[in-house]
Amino acid sequence: MSALTLVKLSYFVAATLFLLGLQRMASPKTARSGIQWAGVGMLIATVATFFLPGLHNIGLMIAAIVIGVGLNWLWGKKVAITDMPQMVALFNGMGGGSAAAIGAVELVRYSGGEAAVPSTFTLSLAVTGALIGAVSLTGSVIAWAKLDGRMDKRYTFPGQQWFNALVALAAIVCGVMALTTLAMPWIIAFFVLSLALGVLMTLPIGGADMPVVISLYNAFTGLAVAFEGYVLGNEALIIAGTMVGAAGMLLTRLMAKAMNRKISNVLFSNFGGGSAAMQEIGGSMKPIEAADVAAMMAYAERVVIVPGYGLAVAQAQHKIWELSQKLMDRGVKVKFAIHPVAGRMPGHMNVLLAEAGVPYDLIADMDDINPEFANTDVSLVIGANDVVNPVAKTDPASPIYGMPILDVVNSKNTIVIKRGKGTGFAGIENALFYADNTRMLYGDGSEMANALVSELKALDGGH
Ligand code: NDP
Repeated sequence: MSALTLVKLSYFVAATLFLLGLQRMASPKTARSGIQWAGVGMLIATVATFFLPGLHNIGLMIAAIVIGVGLNWLWGKKVAITDMPQMVALFNGMGGGSAAAIGAVELVRYSGGEAAVPSTFTLSLAVTGALIGAVSLTGSVIAWAKLDGRMDKRYTFPGQQWFNALVALAAIVCGVMALTTLAMPWIIAFFVLSLALGVLMTLPIGGADMPVVISLYNAFTGLAVAFEGYVLGNEALIIAGTMVGAAGMLLTRLMAKAMNRKISNVLFSNFGGGSAAMQEIGGSMKPIEAADVAAMMAYAERVVIVPGYGLAVAQAQHKIWELSQKLMDRGVKVKFAIHPVAGRMPGHMNVLLAEAGVPYDLIADMDDINPEFANTDVSLVIGANDVVNPVAKTDPASPIYGMPILDVVNSKNTIVIKRGKGTGFAGIENALFYADNTRMLYGDGSEMANALVSELKALDGGH
């Protein structure tokens, strides 16, 4: 069997492992092994690539792999779970950048006469893949900076959308010129404009649109890799890229649907707009002690727990599940309400609750739980802010206006656990915290959940 046939066979095995891995990721129970299966597939594909005939620069490839694996191993080991989204955004950007780099190398090779110029179709795929990959690279880096708190949420200027459209058009024109003339100045102009487009497109996006845009760039990276895989004639890249592109697109659609947003609106118009001043919120935030909250919940019929990003920061999922079990032992009906963009990555809350062992039948989606808040005696909001903010419905000037929220404000009583007056991701005041029937239990999520468990035990006579 020739080396090439062996490589192609290995790619087939790798692709099968990617598929099976992805399938296993569909359920939290099998997701961990799904990642491992896909990882083994990636290892096989990477090793097999070294046996492709006519490969050059083996030393450089090995050096790149050693540096990349080494740095990411260290980073992956010490990254906090709350910083995972930033890391994912950056890794995703690197994938887009790699696809763009493949496009660049191929175009430069054709331009310098080092490789036979392929068909116009292949050339257009190289250019399209490079455009999408470059946008995904710089767009994801901006998304990382925003998620990491290194950049203000939004940068806007008058006529921005028109300016962006102009840059996009100029990038496409340069791309067409690059593929028809293969002249270096056009190739360079094309890449500079494509990279700039990713930055310009992402700067004005913020607030509730970030999750959608991150998953869109993920889909972009997959598409770019698939296109460049076609240019290189590499089946592993085509299959892996197509799978990432398709899965990313489906996720983007789901997220956009859950947020009541069209994908075009995410990219070309801002949530709310934020030009007018936001309405003043009346009233005051009223503190409460853990003992009173424990008593309220102990004698309630229905309690809904609403986790948010602060739960992840505090790593309070285990304590909050212990608290729920104590309540259920007393006959209280407990449910968990999950907003599709609570936390900082899709499914963030589901992952945390699954880790703590919360059964799936206690977890309700936004649409299912919203009508139930009116019959809920106590809603316990722990570390959630934007996803329960009623101004999303009432204040057109708010940056989250139009985002569907959990209707906690309708419950009979609301308790909010948070450390102080910190705002959420969107950086705005929350009208729920000032409502007449809301009380604030100030403190770290984990410590407060612990205090509530102790108070409940005291109520039960120490059990
Ligand atoms: P928010 O970011 O709106 O609010 C989190 C709150 O948690 C803060 O107000 C903070 O208040 C509190 N908090 C922080 N640390 C602790 C702690 N240790 N203990 C207790 N409370 C704490 O979270 P939500 O989940 O409500 O909303 C998610 C936001 O993130 C949305 O705007 C969404 O669009 C955005 N987003 C979501 C992504 C996703 O895919 N899910 C991706 C990117 C952005 P304080 O400082 O006072 O404690």
